[in-house]
Amino acid sequence: MKDLACPLCGRITDHYINGLCRDCFLKNITIANVPQVIHTIICAACGAVKKGRRWEMNDTEIEELIKEQIIRSVKINPIIKDYKISIRLTSRDPRIFNGKIVVNSLIDGIKTDTELQTQVRVKKETCVICSRRAGGYYEAMVQIRANERFPDEDEQDQVLDMIFNIVDRQYNSGNGMSFITKIEKLHEGTDVYLGSNSIARQICRTASGQFGANFSESSTLAGRKDGENIYRITYSLKLPRFVPGDIIRFTDEIILIRHSGKRTSGLNLETGHEFVEHTNKLKDANKVSDAGCAVSTVLISVEGDTVQVMHPQTYLSVTLPKPAYISGTGGEEIKIVNINDSLVILPPG
Ligand SMILES: [Zn+2]
Ligand SMILES: [Zn+2]
Repeated sequence: MKDLACPLCGRITDHYINGLCRDCFLKNITIANVPQVIHTIICAACGAVKKGRRWEMNDTEIEELIKEQIIRSVKINPIIKDYKISIRLTSRDPRIFNGKIVVNSLIDGIKTDTELQTQVRVKKETCVICSRRAGGYYEAMVQIRANERFPDEDEQDQVLDMIFNIVDRQYNSGNGMSFITKIEKLHEGTDVYLGSNSIARQICRTASGQFGANFSESSTLAGRKDGENIYRITYSLKLPRFVPGDIIRFTDEIILIRHSGKRTSGLNLETGHEFVEHTNKLKDANKVSDAGCAVSTVLISVEGDTVQVMHPQTYLSVTLPKPAYISGTGGEEIKIVNINDSLVILPPG
């Protein structure tokens, strides 16, 4: 191969890049550049980053975020395929970060380091979601109630825990509207105001699987935006009628409820057998007593399929069918409830 002179410096060389000798090529190309100042807008409340007109949720540290932003702003000459960018940040003011950037590139076998400088200026604003949140915005309300009774504290806390879990999980997976605006404790239950209707719906579906609750929804017109009606949805979430410890009459059987969910399970107090039924089939059942109403009495004797117990008021001996869970032979203390003047023996414990 014939040696030629470089058209810029006249040096004789056998190796050309883009028609120039190496030195002239490197002198005449811009390997990388970066704007002198980069502006970034971050939500003061949640750390979300504004990209264009949109807010993007963010959970990386501010330094990491700024480094990523610098990397995105560095323009590398497309002729260079092999390069690495490193950044050193210094900051004397939490709103101003100076970045020293080094681009290590490999051009035609020659390692070249290019140094650049930039300054990132951070502006704090409040993102759309945080301003809605602060303004008490809500799309839906879930009313925690119970069918034909008031839910107790404990039940309401269980439902609230489930709601907190769903809201946190959805928020962490990127739904910024997954927040609780307000929680209101009322005599008849708890009202939970939510930023997102889809989260409210998810809460109701989970509650129906987990607690056997049913729900209905209604909407009210909350206003108009961009020519469209804005509705707020109210979900009436109703926990099952019966709770553990309730004694119910269902198709002529007396049942002690032990679990209430999508299915209700318990114990048949006449036979001692396990009871399981779909909760929505218990519409005609009635609560007739409560394990809390049980009183102690004496099991006098056991004879085959029957037992004699002492009536707690009259002290007379009463003969009753022997439930499967009675294993004593007489003389033991047992618990009974009085349902419409007939005695029912409860399981021990
Ligand atoms: Zn040259
Ligand atoms: Zn925010």
